[in-house]
Amino acid sequence: MSNPSGITLALSKGRILEESQPLLDQLDLRPRDGLDDRLLRLPARADGVDLLVIRAADVPPYVEHGAADIGIVGKDVLMEHGGNGLFEPLDLQIAACRLVVAGLPGQDLDALRRRPRIATKYPAIARQHFGRSGRQVEIIKLYGSMELAPLVGLADAIVDLVATGSTLRANGLVEYETIVPVTSRLVVNKAAMKTKHAAVTHWIARFRELVAEAGAAA
Ligand code: ADP
Ligand code: MG
Repeated sequence: MSNPSGITLALSKGRILEESQPLLDQLDLRPRDGLDDRLLRLPARADGVDLLVIRAADVPPYVEHGAADIGIVGKDVLMEHGGNGLFEPLDLQIAACRLVVAGLPGQDLDALRRRPRIATKYPAIARQHFGRSGRQVEIIKLYGSMELAPLVGLADAIVDLVATGSTLRANGLVEYETIVPVTSRLVVNKAAMKTKHAAVTHWIARFRELVAEAGAAA
């Protein structure tokens, strides 16, 4: 463990870090000396807490292997990773969006005479989604800008995250089906739940209070 006497919290860089800022501020879980792009591990204002600021997709492995005790990560990333080895005690109800199947208007994927090609950053989720309804697809793994793939004939459809739908619209794409709603989750290393029980449950409870307050205010 990286912080045997305290707690290490892994944060997803980018949108989730921005949207979790109000929660982190209220819990004194912001960096003691401010965010520094070059520093990947930062002591928090709260005693005994270290923060890791890493790529969203890296949060599940860090927490699963105990390099971080607690993490904040999108449900999309968690589903793609496969939740094994992690507890998911709390929905933080931030960074809300949904995973969808989308493509050009007027197309019926089921009417294609070959297996539809699906471009996505989420191959496991896409395969599982189409598999559930017995549809065979060919997955093309991409790392960004999925919306481009149907426009240039790389894929028949995409599996991607949508919040407002404006990026889809801007590229002339429409949503075919929703796969699952997505928000950010607190995840906890299973061993830390036992060996650092007091500290881990303390932080879960504090996050839970803030989420409940935010829910009551909404
Ligand atoms: P990345 O560099 O990994 O794409 P982002 O800063 O785009 O990182 O954050 C992506 C995460 O933010 C997703 O895993 C998801 O949980 C969350 N998210 C919330 N709304 C959206 C959205 N409209 N588009 C993309 N990601 C979103
Ligand atoms: Mg992104």
